[in-house]
Parts: sequence; C-alpha cells; structure tokens
Amino acid sequence: MTWNCILERVAETRSTNDDLLARWRAGELLDPVARLAQNQTAGKGRAGRAWLASPTDSLCFSLAHPFKRSPAELSGLSLVVGLAVLSGLASALELKQQALFESGLRLKWPNDLLLNHAKLGGMLIEGGQAKPGDPTWMIIGVGINLRNAAALQNALSDQAALKVASLDQLLPATKVLPDREFLWLKLIESFEQHLPAFDQNGFKAYQEQWMRWDAFQDTEVSISGLGKESLTGIAQGVDSAGALLLQVADKTIPIHAGDVSLRSKS
Ligand code: ATP
Repeated sequence: MTWNCILERVAETRSTNDDLLARWRAGELLDPVARLAQNQTAGKGRAGRAWLASPTDSLCFSLAHPFKRSPAELSGLSLVVGLAVLSGLASALELKQQALFESGLRLKWPNDLLLNHAKLGGMLIEGGQAKPGDPTWMIIGVGINLRNAAALQNALSDQAALKVASLDQLLPATKVLPDREFLWLKLIESFEQHLPAFDQNGFKAYQEQWMRWDAFQDTEVSISGLGKESLTGIAQGVDSAGALLLQVADKTIPIHAGDVSLRSKS
C-alpha cells in the first residue's frame, strides 16, 4: 500500500499524543501523521501516570494511524506495536532480532519494553472512532530511553521498585547509538509494514511471535486494577485477541488490557 505519512518535528511540546488527539477530535486527520518532539514536557503513561523524558536522552513521538477495524477489533494493537518497535530497533541498530533477544530485550503485556526486566520504553494508545463507518484513528505514543538510565532512575527515585534501562545498554561496545531522527524513521518504517498488516489480518497472525518475547511467560504475576484486590496467577501468554491468559488454580482467565497493571511476584 502507499503510505502517505506526514512527518513533523517540534522542539518542544507537552505531549505528542495530546497534540494528535486534539487534531483527531477536530476532524483534521486525513493521512497518517508522525510527530517527534525533541523535548516532551508532560508525557503520559496509562491511567494518568507520567512519562518522563529528557531533551537529550529520550525518543518521544506519536503516530496517528487510521484503521478499518472498529476499536473493539483492535484489542491486540499495543502488542503489535511492541513487535513493530522491536523490529524497527533491530533494523536501526543493524542487529538481528535474535541478538536483541539474547541481550535481554522483552515485551511486557500490554505496553512496555523491558531490558533485563528494567523499563526501556513504553507505548500509549489512545483514540477511537468518531462515528460508525468512519476510520478508527489510533494515536500511538512511543517513549524510549536512549541513554543515561541512571539519571532517569534518579528522577524517578520516589518509585523505589522501578528499574530503568536505556537503549545504549543494548549495544555492543563497538557500536554507537544512531541519532534520534534515524531511530524514529526506522520505527516509522516498521510501523508502515506492521500496522496495515495487522488491520488486514488481526492479532492472531502475531500471537505466537509475541509470546516469544513475553517477559513473564510461565511466571507468577499479579494483576491489579480489576477490582479491589489484585489477582495472582501464572502468566500463560496471550490469546488470539491479545488478552493475557492468567492461570489461577485450575482456571485460565483472559485479562483484557484496559487499565489493569501486571507486576512480577518475584
Ligand atoms: P503498567 O505496568 O500497567 O504498564 P506502568 O506503571 O508501567 O503500568 P505506564 O503507564 O506504562 O505505567 O508508564 C508510566 C510509568 O512508567 C510511570 O508511573 C513510571 O513508573 C514509569 N516511567 C515514567 N517515565 C519513565 C521512563 N522514562 N523510563 C522508565 N519508566 C518510566
């Protein structure tokens, strides 16, 4: 397919997701738009949490993309975005995906990128369908720490349990990190391949691949956000719609992303 993606770069904004969401709400989106901010001052995680970025050491951008599927049929999107990010990073760093895997890169359901269990990046997906028959516009925000994990870790020191990673930790000593713009373009290139294919074929085509990168397969995790109490069980991968499969006693319970959070019990 022809991909007419508009590329925008800004020196500073509060949130690239909010910028594109405002345009979607105003009915101004026609073609995909990718918006890169050098400095994102009020980046968002899910459920109103903050995403911290530094003007020199972070990659923060959003991509507004139209889908033929309804919002309900896009349930596996954040997982496919994770796979697209892995593939884009492998291409930008000129490393095989297997090498990234061996260095400890993994995906955490539903929307995080981990390096040896420390948080390297996050994805935030917002948007929807204005009315039946319209395309579903999804605003896909990506934040990746490029270097200086220690500084970010300090800045997030109020969250003692959080471990932060950065992309430079993934590189062999002989390689230098490509610049932010190059990384961004490689990620956009990867989205260009993955998103239309996902719109066409659904998540099932990616289910097995996602499970190979799952940071928590067969481990004990707890899920919060479902009700008053968190639910503990063994993570058993994802189903064909991208729901997490949690084995609790002799039952397997599908957990849908929404606002639930997964935490390792170990
Ligand atoms: P979940 O596990 O459910 O995704 P989360 O706590 O990881 O929940 P997100 O919405 O994915 O939440 O991301 C926001 C959280 O990520 C913040 O509350 C903070 O703990 C952490 N965080 C914020 N900025 C960074 C960063 N630059 N690098 C790593 N972690 C960060």
